[in-house]
Amino acid sequence: MDGALHSALSRVCKVETHPAVLWIYRYDFLTIPKQLSRFVKTPICVVQPRNDEEVIEILEIAERFEVPIVPRGSGTSGYGGCVPLENSIVLDMKLMANFSFQNDSVIADSGAVWQELERAAKRHGRSLRVYPSSATVSTVGGWIAQNGYGIGSLKYGSVMENVEWLEVADFRGIKRVDGERLKYYVGAYGTTGIILRACIKLRDDSPIRSEALECSFEEAINKIEGAYHANFKDKRHLALEKFGEKDTLLVCYEGEDNGSEFGKRFWERRLYPLRALTTER
Ligand SMILES: Cc1cc2nc3c(=O)[nH]c(=O)nc-3n(C[C@H](O)[C@H](O)[C@H](O)COP(=O)(O)OP(=O)(O)OC[C@H]3O[C@@H](n4cnc5c(N)ncnc54)[C@H](O)[C@@H]3O)c2cc1C
Repeated sequence: MDGALHSALSRVCKVETHPAVLWIYRYDFLTIPKQLSRFVKTPICVVQPRNDEEVIEILEIAERFEVPIVPRGSGTSGYGGCVPLENSIVLDMKLMANFSFQNDSVIADSGAVWQELERAAKRHGRSLRVYPSSATVSTVGGWIAQNGYGIGSLKYGSVMENVEWLEVADFRGIKRVDGERLKYYVGAYGTTGIILRACIKLRDDSPIRSEALECSFEEAINKIEGAYHANFKDKRHLALEKFGEKDTLLVCYEGEDNGSEFGKRFWERRLYPLRALTTER
């Protein structure tokens, strides 16, 4: 790594250059296909800013030294978006993870983890409208940068439809964007700016009624009208999880409390794939 670049960044925050650590940042959640992996580069370094000022200073240095920046949350995307294709600085946003609640929304830093937001929202009698099924570990900035759909999207739409405003940083400073201009940042995979924080809409923490219905995929399509969330799993998938033997639709409605026992257990497994990474707080 260029000595002048290293010392400029070191004045701002810790600069990680250990080869073993840099090797990890060549990857996201999935293995890059062999045909594409030859394009992947080991980052020059990884930096973890702790506040807006540090992000701005890092951007200023990157611009001065003409080195690309690759923002990164928890690396669960699996599409290679946070993997460097040039000699780059990886901007790991996970240390910026504060959040605070207002009546109908939460203002969350980019590195806040969705499940932690959801748990805290519940303590305020509120709940996230939408979150990804990778919520145990994925970050606010990462999911918004991908404009994901997830749990709750059947009713509330994509994450963009549930963001009131964003604060973003680029080479000209920090700005707040809302309304029509959100589309320049939500779903842009970090190519247009660094998401610093988001104001995210909440719903009342009303109960969720969960039903598990044995049916084919074709039948399932007709049963999800008006639902908050639905998840169809075929029998092979359920057998693999040792959780059932027949094609099953989980369908959930907001604001009602009853539901079947199997439905409730199915709903409780919605974050099952990354359960090992759950942080208990
Ligand atoms: C088991 C599992 C379940 C999943 N479920 C869902 C789901 O229900 N719905 C869904 O849509 N996706 C899902 N995903 C995909 C992925 O988890 C989500 O898109 C996730 O929210 C990405 O967050 P992350 O923090 O891991 O982001 P990363 O993977 O680190 O980054 C994703 C992209 O965002 C960019 N980025 C990260 N932080 C910022 C920032 N602060 N500013 C600007 N750009 C930034 C990165 O450069 C990259 O392009 C799932 C993945 C797994 C492994």
